[in-house]
Amino acid sequence: MTQIPPLPPAVPPTTSAPSRGLPGWGLALIIVGASLVVLFVIGLLVAILMPSLDRAEALANRTICQANLQTIGAAVDTYVLEHDAFPPDGETLKRSRADLSFYLECPGDTGPGSYCVQFPGGDIDEVDAGTFIACDLKGNHPDLDGGRNVLRRDGSVQWMREEAFQAQLAKPWNAEFAKALRAAEGP
Ligand SMILES: [Zn+2]
Repeated sequence: MTQIPPLPPAVPPTTSAPSRGLPGWGLALIIVGASLVVLFVIGLLVAILMPSLDRAEALANRTICQANLQTIGAAVDTYVLEHDAFPPDGETLKRSRADLSFYLECPGDTGPGSYCVQFPGGDIDEVDAGTFIACDLKGNHPDLDGGRNVLRRDGSVQWMREEAFQAQLAKPWNAEFAKALRAAEGP
């Protein structure tokens, strides 16, 4: 009588290679390492982007400041039209327009009194178009190589490097303004 050999035991189907598994500390080490890499990359990006963000903010402040001076120039023109004379001082101009106080603050500075404002005396028709009416006080925009915004009698507003500004300030028609600026900024 022939005996049929028993079938080998059934092998359970495998769907993937058997995992060797990671010890707990190994997995923690990988997570910590990955976290450090992410932090390093974030730090690197911040270090790269910060200077350009600072410069963007400085440029925005300069532009807002120019808009302020244009508004002050418009207020001066309105006052001159109504009174046929320049305001005697900045306070008088400020009272002539309710919202002007807001525009007398340079965003690059910390508060009010950040502009020097000085009106020319004498006949308004004799005043040179390039005469300075208002400008930033020194240091309002230190991040932009020390330049400043200037408002002229003709209503034009210009960003000027300090050297060019001082050259214009020395002109005879700016003598009154130069005196007021010295008083405001000190020696
Ligand atoms: Zn300014």
